[in-house]
This record gives sequence, structure tokens and C-alpha cells, in this order.
Amino acid sequence: MNNKQILEYDKQHVWHPYTSTINPLPCYHVKRADGVFIELEDGRRLIDGMSSWWAVIHGYNNRVLNNAAKEQIDNMSHVMFGGITHTPAVELAKMLVDITPKTLQKVFLADSGSVAVEVAMKMAQQYWHALNKSDKKEFLTIRNGYHGDTWHAMSVCDPETGMHSIYNGTLSVQNFADAPQCGFYDEYHESDIASFKKIIETKHNKLAAVILEPIVQGAGGMRFYHPQYLSDVRALCSKYNVLLIADEIATGFGRSGELFACNHAKIEPDIMCVGKAITGGYMTLAATLATDKVAYTISSGNPGVFMHGPTFMGNPLACAVAVANIKLLLSYDWKANIKRIENQLKKELHPAKAFNNVADVRVLGAIGVIEMKNPVDMAEIQQQFVDAGVWVRPFGRLVYIMPPYVITDKELKTLTSALLSVVG
Ligand code: PMP
Repeated sequence: MNNKQILEYDKQHVWHPYTSTINPLPCYHVKRADGVFIELEDGRRLIDGMSSWWAVIHGYNNRVLNNAAKEQIDNMSHVMFGGITHTPAVELAKMLVDITPKTLQKVFLADSGSVAVEVAMKMAQQYWHALNKSDKKEFLTIRNGYHGDTWHAMSVCDPETGMHSIYNGTLSVQNFADAPQCGFYDEYHESDIASFKKIIETKHNKLAAVILEPIVQGAGGMRFYHPQYLSDVRALCSKYNVLLIADEIATGFGRSGELFACNHAKIEPDIMCVGKAITGGYMTLAATLATDKVAYTISSGNPGVFMHGPTFMGNPLACAVAVANIKLLLSYDWKANIKRIENQLKKELHPAKAFNNVADVRVLGAIGVIEMKNPVDMAEIQQQFVDAGVWVRPFGRLVYIMPPYVITDKELKTLTSALLSVVG
């Protein structure tokens, strides 16, 4: 098939994320990708501002990750995980245990972020079941959150952006506190936690866990909230005996300026989900980590095992690339590098604050957000970005970038200049 035929067949038969099949948004045909560049079939090279949705932290076609994949594929691409273990899975588990908060000691490998969230929610429910407190089944979360598109993950996404009304009657009804209003850099006001506090005080006997994205609310609004809010959440969960699940799927592995966003508040969750950047964007893999207390309780109750085990659990190929990816991240001063990107984003996106059509500009770590006053026309703005030589995929009122960490100052300057000229 030639380029035109590919695009036409795609339009007729291939369902893309969040897309209509009757009137799909245009798609761009990518031929290859290298470093920070995505190359289109017609030869145009775009600077990637998205890291393929937070994942490609070391750039595309990375030699170290390519070699890890090649070596592993020549050894074994996959083997079942029931009754079998292998070095890549164990090495990855050790790395995750070593770099995540200390109390997280048990690792459950999952296939995707949404599955890791399902696993976390099942763990929380099974924990209380094991303690004969089966009334504790509900979840508490905060508005503007996003945790994935599978059934229970969806039930804790923001009810409006998650379109809960469509699934009325079958989607579990959860508890939603107001979204935190104090930004990361703002002064903190105790009133921020009031809505959350009220719900946990009154409903703790019914609550299995709180689930939230620490510090950075991603797909639900690209908002950065105050670390004290997260500390308050941790304290309230402990006080009222409710588990805390931190969804670090977007924030994990340095993106927010700390290795994990929980570190901004120096808190430890009872359960943590990681994914996306875990393989440097090479293939799908995620993990749910739990404390010994959670794991032992589940395992000592009825039925004595954790009831989950996907076919591709612990896929050796994905684990081997993840090990190489995390080693690569830890092999250099990643923190200073994120700071470099953060400083440049702050400086270069700042002028957008003065634009009439811009509501807010915010930056944290290697994440830059321009919030518009009105929703953007996706097809039109996407085309403008491509014409400007960059790959940026906005949604709603949010035009945002989280580039690969390997981006140079010059490439980042091209990206931010394109952002300003397109939205301005
Ligand atoms: N949690 C968060 C915070 C996410 O950003 C995402 C993905 N955007 C998910 C969960 C779901 O991950 P996946 O798309 O890999 O299922």
C-alpha cells in the first residue's frame, strides 16, 4: 500500500483513541522516529513535545534500549509467569523496590496503566475482605483525576470528563472530593482539604481506599496541586484507616522533578501504580507496588492468594527494556536535566500569560501547560503544529508539552516558539 492507501484504509477501518469512525480527525503517517524527532512518511521531521503520552523519556530509537530489546528477544521474548520466574522480572522488581518509597516491598507486574489501577483497586478491596471488613468497598478520589479507561479505573476518573452519565447504572458509584485549588507554588490554605476531610470523616467505614494522582493531575486537567494537600491526604488516610493508592503512572520516573511525585510531599502510599515511562516508551508494561502489610494481609486472609494473573504478566522483553531504561535514567544527573527543562519552559512559555486567549500558563518539572480560555479546534491546531515542525497534541482547552528528557535547549526553544506562535 502506498501512503495514500494506508491513510485511506486507516480512515475506513482503524479505530484511533477517542475518535469517531464517521468523522475521524486526520491522522499523520509516521515512518520512523529517532531521538526527539518523529519523521513523517513525506520526510518532514517533527520535534516531539509529547513523549508519546509521557512514555518516551530517553527519545526514540535509543541505542541502549534497542540493544536491551535485541539481546532479550534472542534469548526469550516471552514465557508464562505462573510457576516460572526470570532475571529481567526479578531485576526490575528489585529496581522498583529500591527506588520507590521504602515501605513498598511487593511488586505486581501488569500489562498497562489501566490494568495496574484495576490491580491496585482489587488489592485494596481484598485487603479489607481478608480483615473481615467487607463493608469497606468504596473508593474516594478527587475531581479532575484520570486513572485509565477500564471499568473500575474509569469509575474514579472525573465524572464529567470521564463521561460517567453514559455508563449510569453499571459503573461503580464512587466518592469525589473537590479538586485541590492551591497550586504547587501557591500558599497553602487549610480550606483546600475541607471537602476531602468531610467525606473521609463521614464515610471511612465504607472506604477501601483513596486513589489519586500525586501532585500532577494529568489527563483530567493538567493541574499541579500543593504538596501539603497530599500530606494532609496521607495523614487523614492513616487516621481513618483507609488505604492510600498513589497513581504515579504519568508522574513516575522523574517527570515532575522528583523521581516519584509522592517525594514532593515526602509521603509513602500503601499501594503505588507505575507505568508509561517504565520501558522508556518501548512497549506496554506497568506495575503495582504494595507494602508488606497490604500483601501479608491479603495473603493471610481468604482465599489466601491475590486473584489476578494476566497472560503477559512479567513479559521478559518488556522487563529487560525497563531494566535498561531505569538504569539509563539513574546513570546520569536526571534531576539537573529536568531542572534545565523546567527553567527553560518557565522562561519561554511565560510570555503566553499576556495573550488574550490564554487563561493560565504553568510549569512543573518537564511539563509545560498553556490553558486556553476556550477549547481548541483539534484538527486545525494539529495541522498548524505540524506545519511549524513540532508534534503537540492538545485536548479541550489544554495545550501542553512534556518532551523527551533528551531534548536539547535548541530543540526545546523550537518547540516553545511553535507553541507561542500557534496559540498567540
Ligand atoms: N493513570 C494515569 C495517571 C494515566 O495518565 C494513565 C494514562 N494516560 C493511566 C492511568 C492509564 O494507563 P494506560 O493508558 O497505560 O492504560
